[in-house]
Amino acid sequence: MAQITNSMPTAEMQALDAAHHMHPFTHGADLGKKGARIITRADGVWLTDSEGHRILDGMAGLWCVNVGYGRQELVDAATRQMSELPFYNTFFQTSHLPAIKLAERLAQLAPGDLNHVFFAGSGSEANDTNLRMVRTYWELKGQPSKKAVISRWNAYHGSSVGSGSLGGMKGMHAQGGMPIPDIHHIDQPNWWAEGGDMSPEEFGLARARLLEEKILELGPENVAAFIAEPVQGAGGVIIPPETYWPEISRILKEYGILLIADEVICGFGRTGNWFGSQTMGIEPDIMTIAKGLSSGYLPIGGSIVSSEIAQVIGDAEFNHGYTYSGHPVAAAVALENLRILDEDGIVDAVRDRTGPYLQKKFKGLTEHPLVGEATIVGMMGSIALTPDKDSRAAFEAESGTVGYICRERCFANDLVMRHVGDRMIISPPLVISEAEIDTLIERAWTSLDECHAELKRQGLM
Ligand code: PMP
Repeated sequence: MAQITNSMPTAEMQALDAAHHMHPFTHGADLGKKGARIITRADGVWLTDSEGHRILDGMAGLWCVNVGYGRQELVDAATRQMSELPFYNTFFQTSHLPAIKLAERLAQLAPGDLNHVFFAGSGSEANDTNLRMVRTYWELKGQPSKKAVISRWNAYHGSSVGSGSLGGMKGMHAQGGMPIPDIHHIDQPNWWAEGGDMSPEEFGLARARLLEEKILELGPENVAAFIAEPVQGAGGVIIPPETYWPEISRILKEYGILLIADEVICGFGRTGNWFGSQTMGIEPDIMTIAKGLSSGYLPIGGSIVSSEIAQVIGDAEFNHGYTYSGHPVAAAVALENLRILDEDGIVDAVRDRTGPYLQKKFKGLTEHPLVGEATIVGMMGSIALTPDKDSRAAFEAESGTVGYICRERCFANDLVMRHVGDRMIISPPLVISEAEIDTLIERAWTSLDECHAELKRQGLM
């Protein structure tokens, strides 16, 4: 077997990778030809690849490395816990201190009466928990017909069969038998792409009222819950118009339907508060958490649940759980991560200092000829690429063609920005400094210029 080390030539690493490693959300044959970019180290907001490039990570990994890379405290927390108790489960009336402490801390941080945590290994698993939990809740309340869950097209809630069905990604539904029954989708509040002649305020109300229509179509007695990200992330960082969430909240209250806020991206400081629900002024019954909970240093997720739901579920045995629910090492790392977010003032900085600085600079990208809108909340933002700002036109080429070209220019300029269709996204580590924000914006601008030139060269605009 080959000795695989950092000193191996990149092409050899890529060949081995393509030979044996199946990548998520990746076209295998394309990757085989092009070769994966291989990341070898990281520190703060900077990645290093196998060619020695220093790359500014404008995506915090997959929206998760909130405290930045290279935090020794997290390594130490993991090491300590590994030595003391590397594993024990939380099934069958057993527990351990890391899970107890983390649940207590999350109950303190979470708004309202969200005081109970069911742990999972990931966001997908947590949303599967939520799907079963809301149905079980209504069953135990004597309303077993309340089974339907309403979600939104273009939402992302995970890749398992349950969470992928909750999500509204049509490309995912087309593979492997999703969605499962009793899950329904309504259109998303994406004013830029779908708002037509309406003002954002009118459009926000119109999209929220689709929820009411769907509830009436299904019958309120058949609807268990509505699930949504406070701000859609993987769908393209879609910040809803201000009228959207108040109207959604009104409708859910009126018909007695639970709200699951998927905080997997929005949680843990991303929007300038501990949770996106606080930023958007919503009061969920359940919040899904993962990613920033441990800043991605170890896999952990969960559901933070209201006292009412926890009590009803607790009156029976919930036949559900994962081997790694509340994994002690992951929980110890998450707890230390929450301490860092708090004591280093990272959430405060996103709200009051570096967050507003990034927002101002990011919105300045609308001066670029390719950029129609730049929307950002806290440290998650997106720009819409367009051939015509006034009409909010889409490119004639298939959606994603231009976004892909732009993303490749970003990579070439040592900046990670992701594209969703023809929107470009940022979600940097929350510890990014003002000087690093300047570098991010400069590199984005250069990449947009190069993308613009390339589009003209290829006759795409
Ligand atoms: N919900 C949201 C909002 C997400 O963005 C993601 C992951 N991108 C998930 C759920 C799924 O989380 P995981 O990949 O940890 O299963």
